[in-house]
Amino acid sequence: MNWKNIIQNITDIFYPPICPGCTAILRPEEEKYFCSDCREKIRFLTGSICPVCGIAFFDSPAGNHLCGNCIGQRPFFSVARAVAAYENTILKTIQKFKYGRDLSTGSVLARFMADFSFPDFDYKKYSLIAPVPLHIKKLRQRGFNQSVILAKALKKKWRLPLNYFLLKRTKFTLTQTGLDKKEREKNIKGVFKVTSDEAVDGQNIILVDDVYTTGSTLNECAKTLRKAGAKEIAALTLARVI
Ligand SMILES: [Zn+2]
Ligand SMILES: [Zn+2]
Repeated sequence: MNWKNIIQNITDIFYPPICPGCTAILRPEEEKYFCSDCREKIRFLTGSICPVCGIAFFDSPAGNHLCGNCIGQRPFFSVARAVAAYENTILKTIQKFKYGRDLSTGSVLARFMADFSFPDFDYKKYSLIAPVPLHIKKLRQRGFNQSVILAKALKKKWRLPLNYFLLKRTKFTLTQTGLDKKEREKNIKGVFKVTSDEAVDGQNIILVDDVYTTGSTLNECAKTLRKAGAKEIAALTLARVI
């Protein structure tokens, strides 16, 4: 046992790790992030999916195949992947993090996401990580950008450069909640700007956000980056609305 482990064990006696889903103290035999009960309620999106946007086909025996949306119109990102469905434990903890401003829950979620290996996603193909930006007004209200916290954990785990300022949100938009896909696309159109074409040119970029709802925000970010010369874009999120 090295010093780092010894210090960690002593810290755990005084500040035992807590499950962010239910605040129970994690038993030593339980996994790092969630207690067994909360973990059981996480639906990982690892079965059959659309190889482009990553939508899960839970009951399909057909294996991976393109979804109707991607056949109709290819998004500007080449792949989107989410760790889990936006429900139960994941929904509850993301809301606690974002709206309850609980940064310790955010830190657990970020490490949980970074530790997850997507079965068909290779981080080595990418040269840069960029979080989906918040408008300055929203950032002041919330005090932090949840995507930056997730992106920081990915940077640390996968040793990729992170650029917080690559994209800027130039317009304050009303919440996308309650809008359908078409309305969301309209609401988000032209909202982002690249801060430096040079930093984007020729790069393979991983966009990071907390939740993929219809993909309009991530697609608009990807479109902006592609126009500025980015080669390939991946969109990674912690959760996806099912
Ligand atoms: Zn729990
Ligand atoms: Zn698709």
